[in-house]
Amino acid sequence: MTVLNSLAEDDSAFAQRQDDDVIQRRCSYSGRFAPSPTGPLHFGSLITAVASYCDAKAHAGTWLVRIEDTDIPRIYPDSEDHILACLDAFEFESDAPIIFQKDRLDIYENVIQKLKNKNLVYACQCTRKILGSNAIYAGTCRDLQLPFQDQAIRVKVTDQGICFEDRLQGKHCSNLKKDLGDFVLKRRDGIINYQLAVVVDDYLQGITHVVRGADLLDNTERQIWLGNLMDYPKLTYMHLPLAMNNQGQKLSKQNLAHPLDLKQAPQLLQHAIHALGQDPVEIDRPSVMLAQAVSQWDISKIPHSTKLDGIYL
Ligand code: GLU
Repeated sequence: MTVLNSLAEDDSAFAQRQDDDVIQRRCSYSGRFAPSPTGPLHFGSLITAVASYCDAKAHAGTWLVRIEDTDIPRIYPDSEDHILACLDAFEFESDAPIIFQKDRLDIYENVIQKLKNKNLVYACQCTRKILGSNAIYAGTCRDLQLPFQDQAIRVKVTDQGICFEDRLQGKHCSNLKKDLGDFVLKRRDGIINYQLAVVVDDYLQGITHVVRGADLLDNTERQIWLGNLMDYPKLTYMHLPLAMNNQGQKLSKQNLAHPLDLKQAPQLLQHAIHALGQDPVEIDRPSVMLAQAVSQWDISKIPHSTKLDGIYL
């Protein structure tokens, strides 16, 4: 709907209105749900959607949906449609038009160009074979001044601790130099890395609060580092405990977690709200259940661990 309106409007007026919306969001609370279409959404995704939505709305904030689909080879057929169908069935409404990262590659390239101009990135020709199983990149190509064409692009990190206070998990720190080394922003095959796209879009969408699964906890320092390099405002983080399967593995697309059954939306929603430790809500239309969950939302009731026990969906 907004897209259609925009075509009828003068372009610059529309751009101005969008900028105003972003500034407005930055001044209050703005959260988001940012699934990757690498498989159908599962119960773990629903927990993230519910928590990010309730936390935003309980703070009288906005809640946006963004599809993180830069990793084209990993996109699973029809999973974008399944995500959109889930949002409909669970009656989640994004407060701005949904954005798809694959339509925004020029934006990420621009940011890489800015980092190039500041000499904060470099081309890397190391293949996985050369790097072997060593998880920490030693900076082999840092000073080689290789041309950027057809090479991976890494961002430089320095030997310093980066810490943040997670609203559920407490203080979390990493020294990127010691724990990881300079990391990849763009792969040799041209794919923009998640770390870059997520930071750029959180900034451009005016996001203030990130609520997501604890599997992404260890990515946060990289994202804070990138945000600092770009002078973006700081974000507040909350990493949720993960739903597990009956083999003790986190529910994930890779572990073939059951896709959300849209016909069971109210029951699944009730279960997700319960898994988040919140007071029960009565079975009703999903939007009514969500409104009740928002009115009862209490983050002190969310389990302060990285795993939810006894969730076998
Ligand atoms: N796209 C990521 C995923 O589906 C989530 C990214 C984020 O919330 O920062 O796992």
